Amino acid sequence: MSDNNSSNIDTSTEGLLSHSLVLFGALGDLSLRKLMPTLYQLEHAQLLSDDLKIMAVARSAFNIDELKARIKDTLNQYLGAEQLNSESLSRFLKRLHYCQVDLIQAADYAALKEKLDAWHSRMTFYLATPPSLYSDICQHLHSANAINNECRIVVEKPIGHDLASSKVINDKLALYFDESQIFRIDHYLGKETVQNLIALRFANPLFETQWNNQYIDYVEISVAEDVGIEGRWGYFDKAGQMRDMVQNHLLQLLCMVAMDPPSQLTATSIRDEKVKVLRALKPIDPEKVNKHLVLGQYTDGQFQQQPAPGYLNEADAVTNSGTETFIALRAEIANWRWTGTPFYLRTGKRMASKVTEVIIHFKASNHQIFDPKQASITQNQLVIRLQPYESISLQVLTKEQGIDKQMQLRRDPLHLDFAQTQSQARIPDAYERLLLEALKGNQSLFVRRDEVELAWQWCDQIRQAWHSAELELEDYAAGSNGPKQACNMIETHGHRWYEDC
Ligand code: NDP
Repeated sequence: MSDNNSSNIDTSTEGLLSHSLVLFGALGDLSLRKLMPTLYQLEHAQLLSDDLKIMAVARSAFNIDELKARIKDTLNQYLGAEQLNSESLSRFLKRLHYCQVDLIQAADYAALKEKLDAWHSRMTFYLATPPSLYSDICQHLHSANAINNECRIVVEKPIGHDLASSKVINDKLALYFDESQIFRIDHYLGKETVQNLIALRFANPLFETQWNNQYIDYVEISVAEDVGIEGRWGYFDKAGQMRDMVQNHLLQLLCMVAMDPPSQLTATSIRDEKVKVLRALKPIDPEKVNKHLVLGQYTDGQFQQQPAPGYLNEADAVTNSGTETFIALRAEIANWRWTGTPFYLRTGKRMASKVTEVIIHFKASNHQIFDPKQASITQNQLVIRLQPYESISLQVLTKEQGIDKQMQLRRDPLHLDFAQTQSQARIPDAYERLLLEALKGNQSLFVRRDEVELAWQWCDQIRQAWHSAELELEDYAAGSNGPKQACNMIETHGHRWYEDC
């Protein structure tokens, strides 16, 4: 496939012609909670091509009317009945088809192939299934002769649990699909504000000229979740925050902040620049791991004035686990642009509030003419918030007003709240953009194999370092801002978290 994969998102239906979607795991959580509502929204926005059909694949016995009733209930549940437009709903339900397949049974794929052949359509296979099924699905589709050069495959995280296991999955995919046909999802890349980082950085020379170690003191990337384990204790306990969040979402955000300007807005250019950042990430020195890394696990606490159980007291908790539900770390990028400017990454579960933000802490000027007592506020900060609402705010210093105030400084935000400035536009869910771009064949917002593997390589090294240093888990109460050691860690490097230290 040529690299006509531009990250410019247009709303035309060009490129969608005769591309149909085959959704494996169609009755699973991801499909019902995210993908079906997303497809409905695309339908309602008239962004799906007229001839696009959707094949729901699952192992339960259903007839098509039962399936449609189930999907309608799902849309009511997740979007709200008042949000559904009857014409859009009816158009959407008409696209749905059903095929019962036990995905590990090769023989079951013959019926699927027969139905797909009748469509005379190119296929996008979306694997909303456990990754342990990827290999079977690809192999059986291949044996049934259902894969050709025009097919695409969309796969979800996690791609493995370390470098070795990710290679196994990637090797399997590569047996049947060319890299240009593989779309690995990291849903953070579909978020409007993450897309906006490209516009903010590369369309505003004001920022790009300052975007380096001369002007930026440090960068903070925080992803705090207020929820705990949500019934997924067994899954999460095998992963932990490093593998579940840092390896993918936080490193993708880091890449978007740190990468050099791509020469063009194409998938190859953007992904090449991200790979350069991942290659330049410095391993953490095992001797100094405790100065660069804090691991935590939440204990019993309070959330919204209600008692909240600790990680080991959650439903389904079965072991005295050493899995980290919080991690804060100091990353360094060894290149011309960033040497000397650390990136602090922090993510935790059962924190005080749900917030995802990137904060660029600019350096104070070398020569101060203001009262030295005010030095602590003389840095500008650019706060890029992804959750709970999307906004960008630049903290600037002004004079406190009033005849009695002399030259007393204060920090105020220049604030862009997208819900207000672009109130006519609905902010799309990340999955809407990703599904649309996958259907168009645009890989810009998807993760390339080398990105996944370099990210694992860096994370594996850090995990080995903390295991050999026998780093201890720090306690933090459910509903708090994480362990105090995370504040101590950043403060020993002369920095502070933006919100909560
Ligand atoms: P679920 O377990 O809810 O869904 C998996 C689906 O696969 C189920 O519908 C299940 O069918 C089906 N399945 C399993 N085995 C077979 C089989 N032999 N034949 C036919 N169908 C089978 O998982 P999720 O939806 O939560 O996750 C799917 C993928 O998405 C995973 O890779 C996950 O890591 C990823 N993901 C999920 C997110 C989410 O929010 N849920 C977020 C990010 C990633 P049955 O119902 O019959 O068991």
